[in-house]
Amino acid sequence: MPSSPAPSASAASSPASASPTSSPSQSPSSPPSDSGSGTPSARPSSAPPQDPGTTNASAPGKALGGGLVSDTLLSHTVGSGAKAVALTFDDGPDPQWTPQVLALLAQHHAKATFCEIGPNAQRYPYLTKEISTAGDRLCDHSVHHNEQQSRMSLDYNTHEIADAQREITDAAGTGAKLMFYRAPGGDFSPMIRNIAAEHGLRPLAWSDDSNDWKRPGVNGILRSINQDLRPGAIILMHDGGGDRSQSVQALARLLDQLDSQGYTYSFPTP
Ligand SMILES: [Zn+2]
Repeated sequence: MPSSPAPSASAASSPASASPTSSPSQSPSSPPSDSGSGTPSARPSSAPPQDPGTTNASAPGKALGGGLVSDTLLSHTVGSGAKAVALTFDDGPDPQWTPQVLALLAQHHAKATFCEIGPNAQRYPYLTKEISTAGDRLCDHSVHHNEQQSRMSLDYNTHEIADAQREITDAAGTGAKLMFYRAPGGDFSPMIRNIAAEHGLRPLAWSDDSNDWKRPGVNGILRSINQDLRPGAIILMHDGGGDRSQSVQALARLLDQLDSQGYTYSFPTP
């Protein structure tokens, strides 16, 4: 299946999305590698989701183990009227940063979704388990963090998704909630969304990019977040893939801010 990244993407079909995906800061080809000081395979997500097939919202979900999982790209929490945001952390787990993120979340009684690289979960299973036991949710973020995934074959993508799913699930142990797939760099295609759905995973995008992987300073991260902050936002941050000290500091301030603004913390549930 050919892919043609069309920046027109998302908002069109989703009734509740008042175009939250329109932070058009990045082109799909732009992401530079960040440092490489972190886990070898984990480059950060960067560009906003660009999925030419997003308008295909009527595509039926795939029946899987009795459940029905939609392949519609999820880029916002669907409102129950609550003033909630969904925090998401990508490219971990990382033994230095993930525990700090978890500690901050616990202080604020906040929940989050962690999009993990399969081999990282395999390397640090205790962190994946801790995330799961804390009541946070897990998200498959592939094996190799290839941000050009949409150009690859069905077989390649199936392995990227299924192998990481197995690695994360094995690390988390029983009862873990691995519900989503997030394509590296948001490089979704209809094929990738289909594979995810066939594996019981909902394709997960975001609406609010912190740009923390660029390390613009704590204020810069908060500015990025506040630009697109609104009820229902899915906020993208990173707990792996390099030096995340700015991300952790920004998170501390963000949680104070969100608390004082009366936000609650939710999962990207349809
Ligand atoms: Zn990533």
